[in-house]
Amino acid sequence: MSADPYDADRPREACGVAGVWGPAGRHAAPVREMLVALQHRGQESAGIAVGTGAALVARHGAGTVAQALPDLDGLPEGPVAIGHVRYATHGARDGLAGAQPVVLDRPPLALAHNGTLVDPHTAPGAEAVEPAGCSTDSELLARLLLAARMAAGLDTRAALHEVLPTLRGAYALVLTDGENLYGVRDPHGFRPLALGRRDDTWLLASETAAVTAVGGEVVRELEPGEVLSIGAHGTTSSRIEAPDAKTAACLFEYVYFARADSTLSGRSVYRARYRAGQALADYAPVGGEPRPVVVATPETARVAADGYAERAGLSVVQGLLRPGAVGRSFIAGDGAAREQTVRRKLVPVPDAVAGRRVVLVDDSLVRGTTMRTVARLLRDAGAVEVHLRIASPPYRWPCFYGVDTGRPAELLAARLPITELAGQLDCDSVVFLSLDRLTEAVGGDSSGYCTACLTGRYPTAVPAAFAAPAVGCGPEARSETALASRATAE
Ligand code: SF4
Repeated sequence: MSADPYDADRPREACGVAGVWGPAGRHAAPVREMLVALQHRGQESAGIAVGTGAALVARHGAGTVAQALPDLDGLPEGPVAIGHVRYATHGARDGLAGAQPVVLDRPPLALAHNGTLVDPHTAPGAEAVEPAGCSTDSELLARLLLAARMAAGLDTRAALHEVLPTLRGAYALVLTDGENLYGVRDPHGFRPLALGRRDDTWLLASETAAVTAVGGEVVRELEPGEVLSIGAHGTTSSRIEAPDAKTAACLFEYVYFARADSTLSGRSVYRARYRAGQALADYAPVGGEPRPVVVATPETARVAADGYAERAGLSVVQGLLRPGAVGRSFIAGDGAAREQTVRRKLVPVPDAVAGRRVVLVDDSLVRGTTMRTVARLLRDAGAVEVHLRIASPPYRWPCFYGVDTGRPAELLAARLPITELAGQLDCDSVVFLSLDRLTEAVGGDSSGYCTACLTGRYPTAVPAAFAAPAVGCGPEARSETALASRATAE
């Protein structure tokens, strides 16, 4: 895990995937462009695999797309290319070691995976392929698919239908066998996957923003449980056998992960965040005189802050800056070092907040390790009050579906009663948006979404090794809006 305390205090996405199929050409170029558009989903490594028909040629590197793939030298022309940006929630974390696409040969198979499988080592056949030295659940999946192709003489589509019903967890996959492009979403649809078109090429990407970034038109999003194959035959769609699976799209794609210009299930991420901010203002206004100003924590909370301010009739001021890249920090994570690093990453603007009452809007609160420092930054810059408003409910349960939310013991709202949060974070009050209000802002009720990290209600079996948080926080009791202030701390 990165030791960067500012980034480590936010939920972090597993990965982004992309693919292109069309008449033979240099498809690595648009795949690389799409990976740049998905960079926010993973910055530990990037890779591209190109199918030339009978073979695959791949390049991987550590870091951002610009660092990992500064050029496309060595990647040939071909009918298909896939790519991946990675943030490791599972398996190897040292940059290049877990880089994807996973590439296997004889027969050729390249796989890019967004999500995390739950207990994949218990899947039928896993013990037979694991001795090959799988470092990640994604590699294990690729080896299971290859084994199914070789043992039973299946084509790639048939192998997907053979293997995937035996696995649990989250997977949005982009694969190629050198000739065809495949896109797959798990039966719950935890992670998004969009289909696009540009002239005579087909595009697949984790987010619609990546499709439009290369001048493509969004055709649709893959359905939960859909296997889509694209090749010289055209497109073919089929369903993974999973009769009992209910749709459980990750709610935090709207809150935090996805880019604001993406749509998910046809719903605008920007509008969801704006409405969440408005709902927060309705539920948790900050009254009194002098009238407060609204400050967003950079960068993803800006839209919710705009919604809050509009509804409350307040001004948004740029009270916090996140200056250009200052490089990743690997300072040891003790309190003083963490605070020092946050102070390098975030800069308060005294002229914006001095003498003002501040409503600080953030999108989520996970470990809480930096928020106390952020509040202190604003106070040091002259803010007379800091009222924290969070545009989502408190995280209390770990995610097993491809998001690094930390262990239960690290989740601030699972460790402390809500009434103690304001004091702990050095804020004058802390209010979270309720689940009902959040899902209303996104659109619809909570039935089509995964809310496990907020409610403890998991759509699948959880890993055998998982022990529920020991604090007295039953899922029902902990799923509602939490309001705390210094005045009501007892
Ligand atoms: S547990 Fe939370 S972060 Fe994980 S998929 Fe479900 S809603 Fe998303």
